[in-house]
Amino acid sequence: MREPVTAYVGMGANLGDPAAALALAVQQVGSHPGVTVTARSSYYRTAPMDSSGPDYTNAVVAVRTTLTAPALLACLQSIEAAAGRERPYRNAPRTLDLDILLYGDAQVFSTALSIPHPRMWARAFVLLPLAEIAPQCVSEAQLRTVFAQTITKLP
Ligand code: ADP
Ligand code: MG
Repeated sequence: MREPVTAYVGMGANLGDPAAALALAVQQVGSHPGVTVTARSSYYRTAPMDSSGPDYTNAVVAVRTTLTAPALLACLQSIEAAAGRERPYRNAPRTLDLDILLYGDAQVFSTALSIPHPRMWARAFVLLPLAEIAPQCVSEAQLRTVFAQTITKLP
């Protein structure tokens, strides 16, 4: 049995009912036998960045997992597919996007998987929810670099 690793998963949606899609995704991620959800951030509302369509709802969850990083990605992709995720073009609006942000202290650089997620440090919709549940993972300096981005924490 592998030792469990703490990983952080970024979630976003801007089509359909985003809050419902995120809530269902949290449940589905946690229902995998190799994954336990240990924390979930608040939901955040943001204008599309590198994307288009309605505003996004975003959140980050912390998991403890015995899955390898590629197996965790496969699990997340099957949950995206079940939510009707389509990829008509790059950065298209989406019913559900699940990204691995961090996986322990692993560094992965392949076409299928890059960890830490290469764009996470530039995105308030990742850094604010991540800092909420894992302040040790995000520095004040990193938060300052995204502070001009408009983002609303939902009640
Ligand atoms: P986006 O970059 O907007 O999240 P997609 O969700 O369509 O786009 O992902 C495109 C590809 O990014 C996936 O097929 C996946 O193999 C790859 N990818 C690379 N690194 C990661 C990661 N850390 N988390 C999730 N997907 C990743
Ligand atoms: Mg993705």
